[in-house]
Amino acid sequence: MLRVTESGLYCDLGDFFVDPWRPVPRAVVTHAHSDHLTWGCGSYLVSERGLGVTRERLGEWSGRAEGMPFGEVREINGVRVSFHPAGHILGSAQVRLEHRGEVWVASGDYKTDPDPTCDAWEPVRCHTFITESTFGLPIYRWPAPREVFAGINAWWRENAAAGRASLLFGYGLGKAQRLLAGLDPSIGPILVHGAVDRMTALYREAGVDLPPTEYATASRGVATGAMVVAPPSTDGSAWARKFGEHSTAFASGWMLVRGARRRRSVDRGFTLSDHVDWPQLLQAIDATGAERVLVTHGFTGPVVRWLREQGLSADALATRYEGERDDAQVLTAESESDTTAGVSAQPAGDPRVATGDEFAGDADDIRTSSTSDGGPPVIRDGSDARGADE
Ligand SMILES: [Zn+2]
Repeated sequence: MLRVTESGLYCDLGDFFVDPWRPVPRAVVTHAHSDHLTWGCGSYLVSERGLGVTRERLGEWSGRAEGMPFGEVREINGVRVSFHPAGHILGSAQVRLEHRGEVWVASGDYKTDPDPTCDAWEPVRCHTFITESTFGLPIYRWPAPREVFAGINAWWRENAAAGRASLLFGYGLGKAQRLLAGLDPSIGPILVHGAVDRMTALYREAGVDLPPTEYATASRGVATGAMVVAPPSTDGSAWARKFGEHSTAFASGWMLVRGARRRRSVDRGFTLSDHVDWPQLLQAIDATGAERVLVTHGFTGPVVRWLREQGLSADALATRYEGERDDAQVLTAESESDTTAGVSAQPAGDPRVATGDEFAGDADDIRTSSTSDGGPPVIRDGSDARGADE
């Protein structure tokens, strides 16, 4: 019912694309991360819960986006289309397609760990399940999020007691809000970078309960031992240095492996991902009852092999989705020059290395060259985000 074309996953029967990577007339979109949401399409159908963040991301094309509540069915040229929660970020959806009793589910990015900032992943019974495999290796097993947040708050408390600011890096859409939801506001003020502030306001508008935050200014951060939540692209920037003495941390699934922590310059790494780990991936696939699994972005080879060993029909699907990137600081931008509130964007094509207050945007706004199947991100400056230990 779906096949890969040059522009993305295409449904011939319904004449629409799911998460196209090139502009197409009709797009059905799982979520608003930039590797799934392409500018310039003729129309966008997204989950109602994700409409606000989608419109923010679409900018001049925002008027072309339409929301549909989870569970509601729309027939597009005879194909029954519905959205079901994916648990990845606010409004993230799995797309269910049904035609003459045949059911496919394209799950986009998803996780099954608890996250108060989005609707929980739901298993959807299907014949064919399209799954990501960002962390599809047995070494990836997440600690309980509650323990991770206890560690983050303990780190913050320690820094505040020593008169240091805490700079916590996470992608501006999704991860940053999940981090905010887990912070203990009794420790001190919580400040947010412009890119985080924008998306956080949309989360609040959607009814997500988050602690009070203030727009980050250096003086406030220095004086009070504040927590500053910012996109990874600000790590090491002049903007970050304005906070004076501070400690840095990055929250990502990649932080599970020592090499990834070492390659980033941060003081601490917290293992927190918005993707399924290995056991969750296998459980999720099992819960769909699918007899056929198509495996996309990530460790497709090992996952396909494992599923075949279990007697399932499994194949890799070559898409251009990227999952969760390890490092954003050194990426270059070609396709987008986002402007964040309070800072101006660099011209498109400039390296997005933060060189002053003019750093641009949000780590997950940045497209790398195609990293379709190889797992962790490819960094264009020649440094390697994929170590042997990942
Ligand atoms: Zn995503």
